[in-house]
Amino acid sequence: MTRYKGKLKRNTFLQIFIGAVFFMVVMIAMPQIQAQAAGKNGVAKAADGNWYYYMENKVQTSYNGLAKYNNAWWYFKNGKLNFSYTGLCKYKDNWWYVENGKVNFDKKTLCKYNNAWWYVTGGKVNFNAKGLCKYNNAWWYISGGKVNFNVTGLCKYNGNWWYVENGKVNFDKTTLCKYNGSWWYVTSGKVDFNYTGYMAYNGSNWYIKNGKMIHQGGNKIIYLTFDDGPGPYTEELLDVLDKYGVKATFFVTNQKPKYQNMIGEAYRRGHTIALHTYSHSYSIYKSETAYYKDLKLIEDLCVAQTGEKPTIVRFPGGTSNTISRKYCKGIMSSLANSLDDHGYVYCDWNVTSGDAGGTTTESGVFNNVIKGVKGKSVSVVLQHDIKKFSVAAVDDIIEWGLANGYTFLPLTEDSPMVHHSAMN
Ligand SMILES: [Zn+2]
Repeated sequence: MTRYKGKLKRNTFLQIFIGAVFFMVVMIAMPQIQAQAAGKNGVAKAADGNWYYYMENKVQTSYNGLAKYNNAWWYFKNGKLNFSYTGLCKYKDNWWYVENGKVNFDKKTLCKYNNAWWYVTGGKVNFNAKGLCKYNNAWWYISGGKVNFNVTGLCKYNGNWWYVENGKVNFDKTTLCKYNGSWWYVTSGKVDFNYTGYMAYNGSNWYIKNGKMIHQGGNKIIYLTFDDGPGPYTEELLDVLDKYGVKATFFVTNQKPKYQNMIGEAYRRGHTIALHTYSHSYSIYKSETAYYKDLKLIEDLCVAQTGEKPTIVRFPGGTSNTISRKYCKGIMSSLANSLDDHGYVYCDWNVTSGDAGGTTTESGVFNNVIKGVKGKSVSVVLQHDIKKFSVAAVDDIIEWGLANGYTFLPLTEDSPMVHHSAMN
């Protein structure tokens, strides 16, 4: 019990002693604590209503940079918080995006600074960024963190390859663009990998396969022409032509009225519709009147199908046919002369597939066409799309032509017209 009392007394004394020492220390330190509380360090509002950056109660008028206050970072110019500043600010090795005086850490934008446009993401300039960035309703090409206005070329972004012109995506552009050693087909500002076919560029026709240029258009031209249709194989032929994006020319007839609609179909798929004959009876050669009467009928049918009047004609049997002698002497010479007055041009052929004569197989047609085309700068190939085996050869003919640098084109009025000499 006594021992316990003595211990209690000693503890009480100790507590009083510590308390007294603490009181003395506080009393000595008090003036300094009071001075610090009254002074300003860091960001504080002044009597003039502005916010300043202080050190030991003094505005740091030479301070330009950021300072933290109230969980945000603020922009100071000459020591004063500038709420009207929007732009970049360098601070501790980074360039920060300040918006109305405050760093916006959520911002993704382009920001002009020092004559360049910088790519800001997460509130600071990303100097490693490379790609596209949308700004002001346009898409800009970023490299090294800033817009590179000198770049014209392709840029991959979001699964597409975009055409950048002087640093900006040009959504109206249709062109060929070189990239990685190849030339690519650009339309509406991006590479169209689904496109197969020709495009006019720089005065030539270029063949494109799946968006990539396969060969440069040159002077090896093939005009595939099909006479006597449409018929039961015309649609199949159109599909083969579509597969390669190749356009051809159809010299049509009304021999199989059931397939008239294929004239419109071929037209809509981009082929040239030209006139052959309505009836394909050689009795049309008995007079000019009879010939033009027949021609008018097939023309009307084409206009009904396509809305457009064809201007290219091919005579049944060709200009050099002699069967017309049986009907009227000299008719081919006079027709060849008068067509122009009626507003037409005519075109014969210089490569025949033989499909109207002795050739009756797919391989025979292929061999005849290849043999005829070789060595010619311009070939007008005659085939008949009412012959199944002839239509079947077209796929291989196109494959061969493309592999050997030929350009397939549809006839137009401006094409070189092959003319046979009239023999009657
Ligand atoms: Zn014919």
